[in-house]
Amino acid sequence: MELMYQSTRSEGTKVTASQAILKGLAGDGGLFVPESIPALDISLETVSKMSYKETAYEVMKLFFTDFTEEELKDCIGKAYDDKFDTKEIAPLAEKAGVYYLELFHGATIAFKDMALSILPHLLVTSAKKNNIKNEIVILTATSGDTGKAALAGFADVKGTKIIVFYPKNGVSRIQERQMVTQKGSNTHVIGITGNFDDAQSGVKAMFNNKELAQVMESKGYQFSSANSINIGRLVPQVVYYVYSYAKLLADGAVKEGEPVNFVVPTGNFGNILAAYYAKNMGIPVGKLICASNENKVLFDFFKTGTYDKNREFILTSSPSMDILVSSNLERLVFKIAGEDAKATADMMDALSNNGKYVITDSMKEQLKDFESGWAGENQTFAEIRRVYNETGYVMDTHTAVASAVYHDYKERTGDNTVTVIASTASPYKFGTSVMGAIDSKYKDMDDFLLIDELSKVSKTNIPKAVEEIRQAPVLHTTVCETQDMQKSVEKILGI
Ligand SMILES: *Cc1c(COP(=O)(O)O)cnc(C)c1O
Repeated sequence: MELMYQSTRSEGTKVTASQAILKGLAGDGGLFVPESIPALDISLETVSKMSYKETAYEVMKLFFTDFTEEELKDCIGKAYDDKFDTKEIAPLAEKAGVYYLELFHGATIAFKDMALSILPHLLVTSAKKNNIKNEIVILTATSGDTGKAALAGFADVKGTKIIVFYPKNGVSRIQERQMVTQKGSNTHVIGITGNFDDAQSGVKAMFNNKELAQVMESKGYQFSSANSINIGRLVPQVVYYVYSYAKLLADGAVKEGEPVNFVVPTGNFGNILAAYYAKNMGIPVGKLICASNENKVLFDFFKTGTYDKNREFILTSSPSMDILVSSNLERLVFKIAGEDAKATADMMDALSNNGKYVITDSMKEQLKDFESGWAGENQTFAEIRRVYNETGYVMDTHTAVASAVYHDYKERTGDNTVTVIASTASPYKFGTSVMGAIDSKYKDMDDFLLIDELSKVSKTNIPKAVEEIRQAPVLHTTVCETQDMQKSVEKILGI
């Protein structure tokens, strides 16, 4: 039976999975959600003998029911190949009784690769299925990580072009280098003279420009977004929760049916929502532990039932979690509101009008699956040091936030459930913070200078992604004024 998708903000017309992937956001501003979350239709015992790709097929076929087996397997095959530096794709590392699920073995050494390596193929296939002949132009504004992961995912994917705008003086040196060395004749990277907000506003303005859309259409183009609210990014993230549970089963770390806790360093709430979907598919999950950095808007939400973004925005050493509006939370709110689209729309209106909303007691009741915690900067650095001293394992700052929150949780509750921590970035991506935490002699040294030192200290090989950017030639040098972003796009497309 076909699984259809609806908006979180109105009952409206339902769309197929491929249509939801193409649209990204529903017309009413809501997020697409499946009418129901499908249950896994094979035993976890069976999954435990499967490869990552096979597991991906078993999960995705239940969500993307209008894709044929051949289409889906083709997308999965193209995504999870030797772009990843390990056949396991998402390996589990056990350190001092805790499992770190390493989601950073892809092209850009951060967890966004898990979904952005398949999204381009899902998009192109969706376009074909819906008889769209236009070339798809992905427009993205980035503060660093997403831009590179999207570039790597879309590079040389036929039928697509990707244009990424980043603040010329607002990303780290490693991040900039990763982007400006991007290969692929369909990739375009432009630095703007403004900040990230300017880049984002410029992109939004182009998306909403009807005249531009018409000109594009007449030249055989249409815009699309690789944003994390796309269902084509959420579903591929469910896979590694199913996969990691099955691996624990295969290794005898858990018995069938025994629950596992997942701890997730959270920003936009996409990764942890995927864990919640995995639980709803039938994976035995104990607690879903939501870890925040000093921007602890989610921690406060779980504690009080009030989501309030009216607060200072704090720049931390885990920048991918520096977020005050966690977009994907809307999908959870919809679910605990009893799938009441009107109630969800009202709360989201309140969020955009007053910067806050309050959930009802009965909604709060349904958040029992979740625990939450937060870690400040010093606590995060101390956790990197603690785990390194105890086990020799070096983790990045985002993972360390989750690890610190879990450490606290365990001391507080004595919960001995087998626990998996989502490890979302390679330490090589945040070398200065990581090495500075391990030994103060490295404090404030340049990321590039610390690469070899990090390899020695962690006894790991320098990832291909890092090795490459040290030598790769700069291929993108365009810089434009913020107000000329659209002109740059028109020039690239020749319109
Ligand atoms: C994006 C990101 C996160 C946050 O994930 P969400 O799905 O936005 O909650 C955490 N860590 C890293 C390294 C990331 O890139």
